[in-house]
Amino acid sequence: MIEIKDLHKSYKMGSNSLHVLKGINFTAEEGELVAIMGSSGSGKSTLLNILGMLDEADSGEYNLDGVPIKNLSETKAAKYRNKFLGFVFQSFNLINYKSAMENVALPLYYQKVGRKEREEKAIKYLEQVGLKEWAHHLPNELSGGQKQRVAIARAMAAEPKVLLADEPTGALDSKTSYEVMDLIQNINDQGNTILVVTHEEDIAHMCKRIIHLRDGVIVEDKKIKQVRASSYVQ
Ligand code: ATP
Ligand code: MG
Repeated sequence: MIEIKDLHKSYKMGSNSLHVLKGINFTAEEGELVAIMGSSGSGKSTLLNILGMLDEADSGEYNLDGVPIKNLSETKAAKYRNKFLGFVFQSFNLINYKSAMENVALPLYYQKVGRKEREEKAIKYLEQVGLKEWAHHLPNELSGGQKQRVAIARAMAAEPKVLLADEPTGALDSKTSYEVMDLIQNINDQGNTILVVTHEEDIAHMCKRIIHLRDGVIVEDKKIKQVRASSYVQ
C-alpha cells in the first residue's frame, strides 16, 4: 500500500538548510496499524505530511498503491490524495461555524456528491463514531474527544484506504485518548491502513507495529502484540 525508499527532506533556513529526513525506507501493507514515535523535532510530522502528499520529498521514491507519486500531475495528485488518504490532526481542524454534520459532509462536497447523499452519509459516519445525536451541534458545543471523533468521521466519509493521524490524542486526557484509539482500532479492523504519530508509549502499544525515528532515520521498526484500547475504556 505504502512504499518509500531512501526518502530525504531538508528545509531551507536562510543560507543554511536543515536536513530533517535522512534516508527513510519502509513499507506498510494494507491493513497495518503503525505507530511512528520519536522525540520532538525528529521529523515525524514531516514524514507524515510527505506520505499524505501535503508536502514533497527532495529525493527518494514514494509509491502509493503501486503508483509512483512523483510522476503524477498536480490535478492527478489532488484526485489521488482525495481518493486514498484521510487526515486527522492533534488540533481537530474542524470548521467552527459549521455543524458536526456539515464538517463530516465537507469532503463529500469536494467529491461533488449531491446534498441529500452527503447529509445521509455524514449522519451514517457520525453514527459510527457514536455522535449521531450531536449532528446539528457546533464544534464548540463538543468535548475534545467528541471533536476528534467528528474529525475521524470526516476523514472516513471520503472512504480513504489510508488514514494518517498526527498526534490524534495529543490534546486529550488518557481516558478520552483510549476512546479515540478504540475507534481507530475498530476502523483498522475493517481493513484500513492507519499510521499514527504519537510520543505516548501506551498509545503506540495500541498499534500493531512501532517505528522509532531519531535524527531523521528509522532506528527501530518492530511488530508488537496489540493492546486493545477497549480494555481501558470500560
Ligand atoms: P513534534 O513532536 O514536536 O511535532 P516532529 O517530529 O513532528 O516534532 P517535524 O515537525 O517533522 O518534527 O520537524 C522536524 C524539524 O524540521 C524541526 O526541527 C522543525 O523545526 C523543522 N521544520 C518543520 N517544518 C518546517 C518548515 N516548514 N520550515 C522549516 N523547518 C521546519
Ligand atoms: Mg509533529
